[in-house]
Amino acid sequence: MRVSCLMLVTLRDVPADAEIPSHQLLLRGGYIRRVGAGIYAYLPLMWRVLQRITAIVREEMNKAGALETLLPQLHPSELWQRSGRWQGYTAGEGIMFHLEDRQGRELGLGPTHEEVITSLAGELLRSYRQLPVNLYQIQTKFRDEIRPRFGLMRGREFIMKDAYSFHADENDLRSTYAVMDQAYRAIFERCGLEAVPVDADSGAIGGAASQEFMVTAEAGEDLILISEDGLYAANQEKAVSEPSEAIALDDGISGLLATPGLSSIRGLCEAHNWSPSQIVKVLLLLARLEDGSEQPVLVSLRGDQELNEVKLINALSTRCEQAVLDCSALGAEELSRQGLADLPFGFIGPDLKDACLEGARSWTPHFLRLADRTARDLGRFICGANRPDQHRVVDSWDDLANAPDGIDLRNACAGDRCIHNPEVRLTEKRGIEVGHIFQLGRKYSEALDCCFTNDAGKSEAFWMGCYGIGISRLAQAAVEQHHDDAGICWPASIAPFEAVVVVANIKDASQASLAESLYRGLIDQGIDALLDDRSERAGVKFKDADLIGIPWRLVVGRDASDGIVELVRRTGREVRKIPHSEAMTTLLRELRP
Ligand code: ATP
Ligand code: MG
Repeated sequence: MRVSCLMLVTLRDVPADAEIPSHQLLLRGGYIRRVGAGIYAYLPLMWRVLQRITAIVREEMNKAGALETLLPQLHPSELWQRSGRWQGYTAGEGIMFHLEDRQGRELGLGPTHEEVITSLAGELLRSYRQLPVNLYQIQTKFRDEIRPRFGLMRGREFIMKDAYSFHADENDLRSTYAVMDQAYRAIFERCGLEAVPVDADSGAIGGAASQEFMVTAEAGEDLILISEDGLYAANQEKAVSEPSEAIALDDGISGLLATPGLSSIRGLCEAHNWSPSQIVKVLLLLARLEDGSEQPVLVSLRGDQELNEVKLINALSTRCEQAVLDCSALGAEELSRQGLADLPFGFIGPDLKDACLEGARSWTPHFLRLADRTARDLGRFICGANRPDQHRVVDSWDDLANAPDGIDLRNACAGDRCIHNPEVRLTEKRGIEVGHIFQLGRKYSEALDCCFTNDAGKSEAFWMGCYGIGISRLAQAAVEQHHDDAGICWPASIAPFEAVVVVANIKDASQASLAESLYRGLIDQGIDALLDDRSERAGVKFKDADLIGIPWRLVVGRDASDGIVELVRRTGREVRKIPHSEAMTTLLRELRP
């Protein structure tokens, strides 16, 4: 391919709306263009990268025994109603784009395909003899993300590889899950990415195992915790750790404590020289449920701990009849809209009475009470006295009405001791989730009533796994992991071209003819080569070559008449001035070892 025919439009300036390096570089390098919020065009260079990634993914999926298929993107609402997800995915903060056809029937644009594939499997797979089956597809997904950002990282339209496996029993599911785990490791390695497998939250689906693959990068939206010995790694949403020891409360303090104006843990501790670990803080929240009901929630935490929102939603989900849509903090304004009296915020205790919810307009008139184990494990502690400007010492949780059991609701943090070995501490890194594998169990097959006949002749719901890779996100994550000040440094396996021949001065006949013959030579050897034949200044072409990040560059310049060229490796920009034949053999050795 000749650059003069490539429609290459590069930008010198950093686009104002691009915050992270990979987004900036893909825009500047002419890889992508923004069409709307979270909507991008993949320009020819980008499409080549995406196709190379796709080819690797396809090879590894086929090797793992998965079958490629292509499912519809328009999903009839009935399917999602049968699984119980239509409401949650379309109402409120739901992320499914949905529409009505000319007959007034509702449809959703596929954000994920469990419903479609499970119902198909239910129709096609009737006997255990047909199992296991693992189906995958590579296609565009649609999600009306609340905050689309960072270019391809969080788009509203993006390319995903999703696979779904069907099994006669849980053991068989586990073995395919392990095969997919290996396939994922191979894919990321072949794409030149360092991706860390981490324990991930299984969400409302419950106990089944799930693992995410994280590309470590500062721009990552996820926080991951890794033990110093490398034996444990988890998304903070799921991570567990040994809490630090609480400091015992001085026997001298008891009863009611006057704490005027001290509504924050910090203020309280500074004024009285208490440790946050001696205090139980109580958060007042409101959970919105799928049937439209609203449940006030009181969460007790040890003062030095932070609430983990994913653990909170999971805890609420197991305690509420209805699916939990979200849960957020409550303030005086919401109380007054319910027609309720103000509460002593900052001075609330775990035993705040349900009576304060009496007469609420739409809320359930009692609290759902939760407590983190670190709070619940405290003997004597300080907490709000449920009246303004006062705290109190509680001698034991047994003295409090409605005390909930302790569960894990806190964030594990860097510096915490590990569960598997308390001598070892957790460290933190930011990560970009590029893949997620999941033992779904029977949630969808049961909900959609999709069964097969087992070897005992009984009808039974399938065991299922699902496995996703964000193809377009992965491409950008590769740039986030591989770039320098001058531009992108693509791993050779996914670069849009493997080598670029740059003619310093196209008007110089000996340069032009040597460049042409080197370019031809590369093509003849099966190398994906690019020839920068533009009549631009040499400096412009070098800048562009650095920016678009082709792994190897052959510069044909002033010494062309002596047969000397420059061979430059993009990563590290190491330059070798050598005879052109030697440059060709070196390149071939590097690219086709
Ligand atoms: P996230 O937590 O980042 O929103 P998710 O857990 O909802 O992602 P999955 O449903 O597991 O994502 O989708 C499989 C893969 O698709 C993810 O691992 C990620 O790489 C990719 N992906 C998800 N949402 C987006 C998006 N909005 N834009 C680009 N890629 C995405
Ligand atoms: Mg995920």
